[in-house]
Amino acid sequence: MELHPPQAVREIARRLEDAGFETWAVGGAVRDAVLGLPVGDWDLTSRARPEEVRRLFRRTVPIGVEHGTVGVLGRDGVLYEVTTFRRDVETFGRHAVVAFADTVDEDLSRRDFTCNALAWHPLTGELRDPFEGLRDLRAGILRTVGRPEERFAEDYLRVLRALRFAGHFELAIEPATWRALVEATPMLPRLSAERIREELWKILSKTRRASASLSLYAASGALAVLYPELDATIGVVRGGGVRPDAWTESLLAVDALPPTRPLLRMAALLHAVGMPAARSRDLRGGWRYTGHEVLGGRAAAKVMRRLKASNADIERVARLVTHQSDIFPPDAPDAGIRRWIHDLGADLIYDLFRLRFALARAEVDGAGEPPRDLIERWRRAHAVMLSHPPLAVRDLAVGGDDLKALGIPPGPRYGEILRGLLERVLENPELNTRDALLALVAEEVQR
Ligand code: ATP
Ligand code: MG
Repeated sequence: MELHPPQAVREIARRLEDAGFETWAVGGAVRDAVLGLPVGDWDLTSRARPEEVRRLFRRTVPIGVEHGTVGVLGRDGVLYEVTTFRRDVETFGRHAVVAFADTVDEDLSRRDFTCNALAWHPLTGELRDPFEGLRDLRAGILRTVGRPEERFAEDYLRVLRALRFAGHFELAIEPATWRALVEATPMLPRLSAERIREELWKILSKTRRASASLSLYAASGALAVLYPELDATIGVVRGGGVRPDAWTESLLAVDALPPTRPLLRMAALLHAVGMPAARSRDLRGGWRYTGHEVLGGRAAAKVMRRLKASNADIERVARLVTHQSDIFPPDAPDAGIRRWIHDLGADLIYDLFRLRFALARAEVDGAGEPPRDLIERWRRAHAVMLSHPPLAVRDLAVGGDDLKALGIPPGPRYGEILRGLLERVLENPELNTRDALLALVAEEVQR
């Protein structure tokens, strides 16, 4: 079979082979290349031990020598991972402890799914496919290598990987694999927060139609176990039944945002987590969700903290969820828009609009156009942003030194005076000159 790896991959394989070490391309690269999809990282597996790989190449990086992985810098400046043939010796349902193996087939047998257990020889073009991964791929089936109960129990992360791969490649999960996977979901909380988070992150950042994998999270029970806040949004309806339920809208909103913006997609996914708690009857007998955004911001932060996300990411997602409905009214004057930008933070404005557009599209089942008045409001906010108005005390044309020069004794009063000036300047940015502001201060001091 002819695949087309970068020249550097062939060069690395040739040097290893010339030194007597059988070497293959493996894993995701082979799978993606066979499918005719763009390939991310080409990984190699070799009979050479890490120390032998390091001897053979001038520029290497010990990426995970204890796992047998050495990074080799290709002539193209890319770092390629070369991992010694491995086999699993002991398992804890979290991390498999590995030992080195003698054959590539043995190495392939410890891999998770048949479609990931392919090896391709960069010099001969031979494809090793001992578990008929190619047949499964062509038939659109995801299946574990070996008995699914055992393979999931060895490493529960494989449950989440199955859901991700099945969604990403639009594969149907083979029935025995599916049954074992569903059975294994109660064990998922044993995984570290980091591994759980990284899996979700890969869905959000690699898969355009992320809803496919996320729907499988829901169907398998993984959602209920790992993300009960999201599971609780299933079936939560608004809009008297003409709109999809809150979970479906969340998925549609995620799909409406690009994989290049995973954090924004995260906010879309979590945008409705405050709805179950906020739900009450309205006077016509329908449901209303007044204040769900603020509750949702808190719940979203809780989810993100549980995932051990960074403080910056937690805060960003919480702010987006909290302010999801806080776009200024269509008839707001420019001064109102400036005040709005000041209150929410200029760094949030564009993402808040993107989120709003995605939610608007989701609301009409993913197909609708963004509402015209939202576009108009975006246009106005954009114009105000482009005018770079003063929005913070540090943007004022005067500062503490000027107040001192006016003979005002330093103290908390400085803050009050400057905030007062900012209020005036938000109203009328033309006041933001040294002379105008000093005149205002002088007036204030004399009173
Ligand atoms: P992608 O990088 O596109 O998400 P991938 O298949 O390359 O997909 P990686 O996590 O990069 O996934 O792993 C590379 C290969 O290592 C996989 O194709 C699979 O053969 C093997 N592998 C990775 N994680 C596991 C695991 N938890 N259990 C068994 N095999 C695994
Ligand atoms: Mg990979």
